[in-house]
Amino acid sequence: VLLALVPYVAVTVDRHQRETLGERLLAEARAAGDVLPWDAGLEGACARLATGLGLRVTVVARDGRVLCESGRPVAGMENHGARPEVREALARGTGRDVRRSASVGVRLLYAAWRQTRGKEVRVVRVAMPLTVVGENVAHLVRSILAGLAVAVLLGLAAALAVSRGMLRRIQRLVAFARALAGGDTSVPMAAERADDLGVLEEQVGEMARSVAATITELRVSRERLEAILRSMVEGVVVSDLDGRVVLMNVRAQELLDVPPGFEVQGRPLVEFARDPAWGDVTRDLADGTPVLSRDLTIGPGDRTLQLNAVRLSAADGEVFGLVFVLHDITEIRRLEVIRRDFVANVSHELRTPLTAMKGYAETLLGPAGDDRDTARRFLAVIDRHSERLGRLIEDLLALSDLELGRTPLRLAPVEIDAAVDDVLQIFAHRFSSLRVTAEIAPGTPPVLADGDQLRQVLINLVDNAVKYTPAGGQVRVRARPSRPPERGGMVQIAVEDTGIGIPARDIPRLTERFFRVDKARSRALGGTGLGLAIVKHIVQLHGGTLAITSAVGAGTTVQVSLPVAAPSHTRVPGSHGGRP
Ligand code: ADP
Repeated sequence: VLLALVPYVAVTVDRHQRETLGERLLAEARAAGDVLPWDAGLEGACARLATGLGLRVTVVARDGRVLCESGRPVAGMENHGARPEVREALARGTGRDVRRSASVGVRLLYAAWRQTRGKEVRVVRVAMPLTVVGENVAHLVRSILAGLAVAVLLGLAAALAVSRGMLRRIQRLVAFARALAGGDTSVPMAAERADDLGVLEEQVGEMARSVAATITELRVSRERLEAILRSMVEGVVVSDLDGRVVLMNVRAQELLDVPPGFEVQGRPLVEFARDPAWGDVTRDLADGTPVLSRDLTIGPGDRTLQLNAVRLSAADGEVFGLVFVLHDITEIRRLEVIRRDFVANVSHELRTPLTAMKGYAETLLGPAGDDRDTARRFLAVIDRHSERLGRLIEDLLALSDLELGRTPLRLAPVEIDAAVDDVLQIFAHRFSSLRVTAEIAPGTPPVLADGDQLRQVLINLVDNAVKYTPAGGQVRVRARPSRPPERGGMVQIAVEDTGIGIPARDIPRLTERFFRVDKARSRALGGTGLGLAIVKHIVQLHGGTLAITSAVGAGTTVQVSLPVAAPSHTRVPGSHGGRP
């Protein structure tokens, strides 16, 4: 605007000055006319006046003849009647013009006045160079431009200072927004000044605080949820309606054999569920069934998982996902199988002697019973079977008592040699064809055990060794400390025989109830198939371990390790425990 103003001001000032000067010159022309004589002496007066006023003075006659001209002789001067200011003055009384003077060679402002005296008319013309006006305008323009330059500089400096401050604050806001977007809510933000930007700063700071509070709240509830999911015994899998995993807790990953660190999110469920039943469940749920339960078989160990599935619905009832809860029921199913087998086994074991007894009894009731010898023989068979039945029931009761914890453990230090002696005494009558030895290492400490139950263990083991070792064989009962007291002392009792041995593949199953390598032989020898199961239970109750090694035809060694009685226990009187 100011720049556009400069030429306007220049033109206006120029015109105004010319106007003012023109008026003044006219007044001077009038004054000059008043003092200039009409006749002789005009030229001299003209020159003097011009010098006094510092102007050019010309007097022109009505016909245009120059009567006097300051600074020049009039002789030979051209007629001035055609000069515009002269013509105008003659016509209207005053005239004015600006032009480059042919005589002086500079731009001049002319003012002419028509002077009348009676019938005489002359035109008095004064002129002055316009250089002064030009200089004045130029000076003015220079001043304006200088002022403009100063204003521009000052304006720039002020703008720079203000914009610097603004820029810094905007940059601060940008950095803050960036940090916030990156999840960093710790950067403080408050209004720097009470202006519009300050309001924005205040609002942004407030927003950040509420975002931080929301994030914290979300984090806490998320962590709570994660902790719950992590500590759950059940596997939890959440999927969307298309069957893509949204969430899978650690337990579910374990159950589904997902390698640690594997990114499960967004993957289709079928990738993890190798049982097609899972696909059916997902489809049924997606088709509208609200709740489903199914057993799945999964993984290399043929694990049985119980799958409970429900649909996830929002508050407005819209279904947006599926939740699967996995429960490892492998153990439950295994125990169910064991129980079923056990019931079948018990029934079978009981039926055999009962059938035999019933058969013999019926025969005795018939004519065969009349024969005394036959009757005696048959009664002897019935007696043997009833004895076996009794043994079987006794063993079953002993086992169930152990399992149910009905026989309380009366723990006390038990001297091994005494217990072994007691047991070997019981079998003494059956040793005629075998060599039986007891080797208790000197310094073997007493064990902490229930004396009766320890004897039961020894009885079962020695009984087996004797049963499955042919005549001429050897049975050794050995005991020695197997772990020093400072590492939790243990005593190892081993019953070794040189009998028929056990095939390697059967060794892991020996402690199962009713498991026998050779059923017929065991029965014939009066075995129930429960002896080693009882041994295992007793040893476990004592916090000990059982190990069986065997080679077919070479013999079997059963090792039982039991904890040593603490020294304080050894001083307890009557430490021999119960009766054999
Ligand atoms: P049983 O009453 O039949 O002896 P156990 O539980 O004591 O039942 O033993 C289970 C099976 O282990 C026996 O039937 C037998 O086949 C085998 N067994 C146990 N001890 C020995 C041993 N010392 N030598 C060979 N086989 C043995």
